[in-house]
Amino acid sequence: MEKKLQTVRANNLKQKPEPDKLGFGKYFTDHMFVMDYEVDKGWYNPRITPYQPITLDPASMIFHYGQSVFEGLKAYRTEDDEILLFRPDKNMERMNRSNDRLSIPAIDEEQVLDYLIELIDLERDWVPNSEGTSLYIRPFIIATERNLRVAPAHSYKFLIILSPVGSYYPEGIHPVGIYVEDEFTRAVRGGTGTAKTGGNYSASYNAQEKASGNGQSQVLWLDALEKKYIEEVGSMNVFFKINGEVITPALSGSILEGITRMSIIEMLKDWGHTVVERKISIDEVFAAYDKGELEEVFGTGTAAVISPVGELQWKEKTIIINNRETGDLAKKLYNNITGIQTGKLADPYGWTIKVKEKVTKQGN
Ligand SMILES: *Cc1c(COP(=O)(O)O)cnc(C)c1O
Repeated sequence: MEKKLQTVRANNLKQKPEPDKLGFGKYFTDHMFVMDYEVDKGWYNPRITPYQPITLDPASMIFHYGQSVFEGLKAYRTEDDEILLFRPDKNMERMNRSNDRLSIPAIDEEQVLDYLIELIDLERDWVPNSEGTSLYIRPFIIATERNLRVAPAHSYKFLIILSPVGSYYPEGIHPVGIYVEDEFTRAVRGGTGTAKTGGNYSASYNAQEKASGNGQSQVLWLDALEKKYIEEVGSMNVFFKINGEVITPALSGSILEGITRMSIIEMLKDWGHTVVERKISIDEVFAAYDKGELEEVFGTGTAAVISPVGELQWKEKTIIINNRETGDLAKKLYNNITGIQTGKLADPYGWTIKVKEKVTKQGN
C-alpha cells in the first residue's frame, strides 16, 4: 500500500492575519494533511493537499455515533527562526490510546510524526513570531464508512489542520475564577474521560454555561460517583500547592493525561519539590484555605500552559486564592515551560524537537 507522502501545493496562498487578531482556531493555513483507512488496506494514501472542505456521505458513521478522536499541540518559532515542537511523540502515543478506547485502528506513531513534520515544514511561514503566539496543530480521525450499523466503522480519515493562534494572555498571565460543578459530570471511570474524543467536550458545555452564569470563567469537575474528589478544571489538569507541597489528582481512569501535567510533574521533581499524585477532595481544599495553607491553584494544558486560579466558588462559599494574584510557583513554571518551548531557555530534558532536523538526519 502507498505510504509515501504525496504533496499537491496550493496555487494561491492566503494572506496571513495580523498577529494581534489571531485569537484561537479562527484562521487556517494553506495546506492540510490527509490519509485514509480501509480494513483491507490499513492506513494509506498519505498526502498534503491545499486546505479545503471534505465531502462526506450523510450516512458517514461519524455523524451518527461520534466515533472520532483528536489531538492538540503547538509549533513555536525561536528567535533564530527555527521551528520547535514540544514532546510531539507524547501526542502520538496518546492519540493511539484514544484510538484504542474508541475502537479506531492505531496509527504508526513515528510515521505520522514524520508526516506532521513535513506539513509544518511546508507551512513554516505560518508559525507566528510575536510573544505568546504559536501554530496550533490539530490532528484528528473520523469514521467515514457509509453505514448506520452500531459498530466500529471499516473506513476512516485522518487529517491534520493548522491554525496560527494568538497569545492566551495578551495582557500577561492572570488568574481566573472557577465554579465547582456539583451536578453535571465530565467523565466517569470506565468511560471515555481519558480519551480526547469529541463527545466529552459537547457534554461539558451546559456546565460551562452554568459557570459563566455564576460569573466564573471555567468549571472545576468533581468525580462522578461521590461528587467529592477533584478531577480537572475546564479542559485542563489541576494542581494545588498546600503548605509547601504540590498535589495533583492521581490519574483515576476519568482524567485526561495531559502532557503539560506530565512535564510539570517532571520539572517540579527536578527542582526538588515534593509532588504528590493522589486523590484530593474539594473539602480538603476548602479546609486548607480555612487554615491559611492553600497557597496556589493552577490549571495546566497546551493552550494556556499554566492558568492560575484566583477564585473558587463551591455552593454558597467563595474563596480568594493568593489575593487573586499569580503565585510564584505558577509564574516560575510558566516562564520555564514557555522558555523551553520557544527556545529562549535551554532544554535539559530533551523535550523539544526541531522541525526538519529528524528528516535531515536521515539524509533526505
Ligand atoms: C487536552 C486536555 C488536557 C490537557 O492536555 P495537554 O496535553 O497538557 O494539552 C487536559 N484535560 C482535558 C480534558 C483535555 O482535553
